[in-house]
Amino acid sequence: QIDVQEVSKRFSAGGQDVLACDGVSFSVQRGRTHALVGESGSGKTTAVRLLLGLEQPDGGQISVAGQSTSGRSRTEVRDIRRHLQLVYQNPFTSLDPTWRVGRIIREPLDQFGVGTKPERAQRVREALESVGLPADVASRRPAHLSGGQRQRVAIARALVVRPDVVVLDEPTSALDVSVQAGILELLSKLQRELGLTYLFVSHDLALVRQVADTVSVLRKGQVVEDGAVEDIFSRPQHPYTRALLDSIP
Ligand code: ATP
Repeated sequence: QIDVQEVSKRFSAGGQDVLACDGVSFSVQRGRTHALVGESGSGKTTAVRLLLGLEQPDGGQISVAGQSTSGRSRTEVRDIRRHLQLVYQNPFTSLDPTWRVGRIIREPLDQFGVGTKPERAQRVREALESVGLPADVASRRPAHLSGGQRQRVAIARALVVRPDVVVLDEPTSALDVSVQAGILELLSKLQRELGLTYLFVSHDLALVRQVADTVSVLRKGQVVEDGAVEDIFSRPQHPYTRALLDSIP
């Protein structure tokens, strides 16, 4: 479903060169959850931005749903990337506070020109229902919602274009512990019902163990270890992975 091969990205900032991704490869199977883990600065966000086309790689290949994104026009890349949506970490900053929820969720449909006006309204109602929010939330603004409700809105916004893949960037780390479980449960239900593929970005290994099928461990822009979650957690091969696992409280 997603295939990232030997992708590299270099940034120059303040006279210093940083190789944010240094030959990163990973793949994610349809309907499964793959986690990218690593400490702050290990290159997780850069890998996601490359995948979403928000940055151009210096080298390597990315394909989404069997289609390679290199050597294609902007419109073609946009169409390929429609299969892929992102849920940001912090619903307190990722939703436009001046917009009503209905417009926030509808925006990707407007952007991609999907359906007629009544069809878009219908899709927004369905998306709200699928994340367990009542229909009248559509007329409210984010400030009137709790953190958990806001993250449900962000998930509804991602689902409204009916993507195959959803990138979850620390989707529960800005939420209260009591709310986190509800969001994780919702994500797992949506995955079962819709056959979604998740790329789960996190530095929280305990959470990764709970939600992911496979994992890539990133360190300084390189994948030091990858494989099935149960193998990596029970028999880590790389000293860095062992150190990370030892640091779980
Ligand atoms: P975090 O968990 O803090 O988000 P991360 O694992 O996502 O960290 P990245 O944000 O991908 O890591 O950063 C990897 C490296 O690339 C860091 O050293 C960072 O400073 C550098 N970097 C990322 N984006 C840029 C940029 N636009 N310009 C310059 N350097 C960058």
